[in-house]
Amino acid sequence: MGRIQLEKVTKSFGEVNVIPPLDLEINDGEFVVFVGPSGCGKSTLLRLIAGLEDVTSGKIEIDGTNATELAPAQRGLAMVFQSYALYPHMSVRKNIAFPMKMAKVPQDEQKRRIDAAAKALNLTDYLDRRPGQLSGGQRQRVAIGRAIVREPQAFLFDEPLSNLDAALRVGMRLEIMELHERLATTMIYVTHDQVEAMTMADKIVVLRAGHIEQVGSPLELYHNPRNEFVAGFIGSPK
Ligand code: ADP
Ligand code: MG
Repeated sequence: MGRIQLEKVTKSFGEVNVIPPLDLEINDGEFVVFVGPSGCGKSTLLRLIAGLEDVTSGKIEIDGTNATELAPAQRGLAMVFQSYALYPHMSVRKNIAFPMKMAKVPQDEQKRRIDAAAKALNLTDYLDRRPGQLSGGQRQRVAIGRAIVREPQAFLFDEPLSNLDAALRVGMRLEIMELHERLATTMIYVTHDQVEAMTMADKIVVLRAGHIEQVGSPLELYHNPRNEFVAGFIGSPK
């Protein structure tokens, strides 16, 4: 299960309101892309869902449970960052195992999940290396592996590929889509890249200054952009 509902969620930093009241419904198993220009609130929205920021007002439900007050670790979600956020002094194996160690998952189960994740992400031969001995793409795979072993209800990706070169990005995009197909887990994916949004999403959420301009499938947005802004972002040229 990975149904996420936002009801009248707002976020202010001090006096500055960055998310006006916002409603959003994400269905179980959906691949949802948040797209919009830099500074429009994509990361903030993702961090609110993850619990890394507290909402100023409103309600977040995960699988029908009020998660608004829950700590990040209790929400059953796993976040993958652009900066990878790996521990440089730990091996790949230990980096991937870390969240399971925190959650006190039994050793044999840890090993089973690490082996499965490493196999799925082509990391089997790299488990004893440290992050510094890996390429950017491999590091991002380790970060994804560390999310997979938590067996989350949903994955939250914040511009995970923007540090990679263009050729590698295409490959990683396909890997993430394959992963989504195989796990059938809800994924929320933040990007400012239209191509990523159009090729990966079941549902695109177009954001502008913290509010939703339009929600729809890539085809819906392409053929029927609600306004110039959406058209400029992903619509067909008029
Ligand atoms: P995006 O990810 O779409 O580039 P962000 O969610 O990072 O946008 O930022 C949205 C707005 O909120 C920006 O104006 C940013 O400056 C502001 N903001 C984000 N985090 C903080 C913070 N911790 N304190 C103050 N302002 C913040
Ligand atoms: Mg951001």
